[in-house]
Amino acid sequence: MEFTYNAYKELLILLKENNYHDIIYGEKGNGKTVILRHDVDYSLEKALDIAIIENEMDMKSTYFILISSDFYNVFSKKSIEFIQRIKGLGHEVGLHFDEKKYNINNIDDIKKEIFTEIKIISQLFNFKVNTVSMHRPSQFLLNENLDLGNVINSYSQAYFKEMKYISDSRMNWRENPVENIISNNYKNLHILTHPFWYANESETMEHKIEMFINGAKNERYETLKNNITDLEKII
Ligand SMILES: [Zn+2]
Repeated sequence: MEFTYNAYKELLILLKENNYHDIIYGEKGNGKTVILRHDVDYSLEKALDIAIIENEMDMKSTYFILISSDFYNVFSKKSIEFIQRIKGLGHEVGLHFDEKKYNINNIDDIKKEIFTEIKIISQLFNFKVNTVSMHRPSQFLLNENLDLGNVINSYSQAYFKEMKYISDSRMNWRENPVENIISNNYKNLHILTHPFWYANESETMEHKIEMFINGAKNERYETLKNNITDLEKII
């Protein structure tokens, strides 16, 4: 499968043709179901692109956002607008939790930090956040099958053992999603995609990363322009 918006749309069409109904975490669907999950590691802009495609297909998914990222700042005006637009398209927004931000290795303290971050997002956006996914989880955390009470842990065994999980991590589908969908072998699918890898055209991973790095230079320049008068006269 190509990492293009068209290919992603085709995937959604294929899901529908094969009678998979989109559900969100915590929802119980009838018949064949699919949970669409997106981890927003680098770009909210890309997440919105995917959110629009899903909305056009009348499908809903969950976008997991980081609040501790150096790539985007959820508190900035721009980010808030992106996230509100994603939510406005009918999707869920969950917490993408980066345990490496904290130097802790006991479960109670990790849980405490997850709840704190959830509270921060809920207050910032004024909507309920009740799902969490882990950003590059350690084996320790994966083994724990973390029970968070009312908050759904997308890594809990229910979403792995009772559903067929496939992911495009590192821009590489370890299993072909198309084959899994058409095989009719699985009643429930749990599909993780990273919006960062998708674009209008098919591109190499190297090209995507180079574009991202170069684009950041322009972004920084524009932000500086809003903060330093007559920036163009200085440099
Ligand atoms: Zn991640």
